[in-house]
Amino acid sequence: MSWELAAYDVQPGSLWGADGEFIASRQLDNLASCHAALSALSVADAAPATCVAALFDHEEVGSESAAGAGGSFITDVLARIGFAAGLDDEDRRRALARSYFISADMAHAYHPNFPAAYEPDHKVKVNGGPVIKTNANQRYATGAETAARFMAACEAAGVPCQQYAHRGNLGCGSTIGPIVAARLGIPTVDVGSPMWAMHSARESAGALDPAYMAAALAAVFAG
Ligand SMILES: [Zn+2]
Repeated sequence: MSWELAAYDVQPGSLWGADGEFIASRQLDNLASCHAALSALSVADAAPATCVAALFDHEEVGSESAAGAGGSFITDVLARIGFAAGLDDEDRRRALARSYFISADMAHAYHPNFPAAYEPDHKVKVNGGPVIKTNANQRYATGAETAARFMAACEAAGVPCQQYAHRGNLGCGSTIGPIVAARLGIPTVDVGSPMWAMHSARESAGALDPAYMAAALAAVFAG
């Protein structure tokens, strides 16, 4: 009676580079972060707190939909988890304030063909580990405290991490981070694995970064 159409590259992902150090694949943005989150959740058996991995549709078109991060789904599910655990409304709000939210999307790695697109001191590298993204206009939800907590998790996991701010005189994209942070009131950090050719049919990234991100997220879940 009706239909939706999603066109995508059907070639499987592949390794490339002199030593196979790069990945080429469709939809690294943002299935790579979804994969890292689910990998981390799958090893979070003995976690000291309730761990949630939430994957949303419609991030690329603003997130304001029933299935997007701007919808009521995550708020409702967290409330229902709280009520099922015997928390009253006051308990639930306290739990949210004590929580920590990682918004994991991808990050623009430095590309030497386009030096004018980057802040001179913010050239993040593929295979350099997770990128902490900061923006004074809150296009990213990162603050000093939430960034430090993520840096500590990377250190605990033995993973390098990098810092990124978008070039000051260019418009900065956003993520679900500020949207979810504003609705739930949870301290939030925006992070992502570095990549090239974001939003092209076939994107590129570093072969080391998926495992780095999964290990960093697992370290957060492990407390
Ligand atoms: Zn994107």
